[in-house]
Amino acid sequence: MKRLPALLLALLLSCLLSAPAAGAEEEELTIEEVVEYVDLDAEETQPAPVSGDAAWTFPVALEDMNPEYIRLSNKHYLLSESYIPDLEKVPTLAKGGIKWRGKDTPKEGHRLQPAAVQALCDMNAEIRALAEEMGFRDMYLKSAYRSYRTQRTMYRNRLAKNNGKDDGWVSMPGASDHQTGLGLDIVPSNWKDRGMNDKMMKEPECQWMAEHCQEYGFIIRYPADKNEITEINTEPWHLRYVGIPVATYIMENGLCLEEFTWQLQEAIQDFISRGGSPDLVKDFIQTPTDENYVIPAL
Ligand SMILES: [Zn+2]
Repeated sequence: MKRLPALLLALLLSCLLSAPAAGAEEEELTIEEVVEYVDLDAEETQPAPVSGDAAWTFPVALEDMNPEYIRLSNKHYLLSESYIPDLEKVPTLAKGGIKWRGKDTPKEGHRLQPAAVQALCDMNAEIRALAEEMGFRDMYLKSAYRSYRTQRTMYRNRLAKNNGKDDGWVSMPGASDHQTGLGLDIVPSNWKDRGMNDKMMKEPECQWMAEHCQEYGFIIRYPADKNEITEINTEPWHLRYVGIPVATYIMENGLCLEEFTWQLQEAIQDFISRGGSPDLVKDFIQTPTDENYVIPAL
């Protein structure tokens, strides 16, 4: 069907060429009409560019994303036992960082990827600067990087306590956001020795974090309205570093990291199908490790 206008044009052109003397004025008009018709048709179908010059149309620019920082880990996207990120110790408050909750501190200390360490220090400095005005208490870092093996121990302990049932409070080994070295648990002082639950959301410090964490490159990893997608209970204390541009996009659009990942994967497929260079996007491709997993429709 789409070929018809072009064929018409070709026919008309050949008529013109074969009979140049006959009624020039009338035929000029006809060509204009046909050309207009062809142009309209082209606008409607938007043909894909043939070479690698497709535009990246996703709201976050490629250069504003670091593949390492947007790595998804959950029970369908498992990290391997050997995955150990680049880690740095989080300074304690006396060294410009944050108070540690001593009881849970691993023997290497609390560690995160360097960019997340810096972001956490900056954010805690701001929380402290606002303390008087906002009535904020001291914040405690309860947990940061956890190795695959630590997670395995925690998961086994949780199952043992819960009649062998996974209750969504402790991720299985390889599925924890903590293994990325970008996920952390931070709580106000009145919660540091309490069992954590989603009532913490009401605390002014947590409300402030939910509003401002993206300014430091963090997202709320397990928001209250995304339990069905994350398959993890609401955790107002668990922040995840993704970098400022991605965090801003996720928080402003009310997404969770899973939804962001799927949107991005769709954008990558679209980019390649329009002739974009696969080399430009290959580092951002993430596929489920669980091959039977069906990505929910967005
Ligand atoms: Zn956590």
